[in-house]
Amino acid sequence: MADLEELYREIILDHYRSPRNRGELPPPAIRVEGFNPLCGDELVITLLVDHDTVVDLKIAGSGCSISQSSASLMSAAVKGKSVDEAHQLIATFKQMMSIHEASLDEGEEPKPIDLRSLGELAALQGVVKFPVRIKCATLAWNTLAQGLDEASAG
Ligand code: ZN
Repeated sequence: MADLEELYREIILDHYRSPRNRGELPPPAIRVEGFNPLCGDELVITLLVDHDTVVDLKIAGSGCSISQSSASLMSAAVKGKSVDEAHQLIATFKQMMSIHEASLDEGEEPKPIDLRSLGELAALQGVVKFPVRIKCATLAWNTLAQGLDEASAG
């Protein structure tokens, strides 16, 4: 397990130091902002949806290493995917982030989730051990969900 944790730490640091899809898309891209007051993380996501596909998205803003690397990982995972696939990823990611809390309450074994479907995003699963950081990790995903809603409304 130590090797896997090391690998996950490398992935998170890599995305923090070299964030993917950094910047802002010009209009008519949809622009949404997310804020995590617990930590001070701020995110601006601009995205272009065409024919139910997230054809492009960019990330701006600043915050802690978890929020920034989660946003970078999210952008790499979602870009080029269909809106349905993006919603699926949001659901799976949030399930991964909430699984420990839920299982501890009920004293049950965590339900298995398909980590392979998450790819590099699985690197963030260690965050569930630090409940105060979970909102840092989910900020990008909640903000993305808001952007997808606005895209489908427009
Ligand atoms: Zn944070």
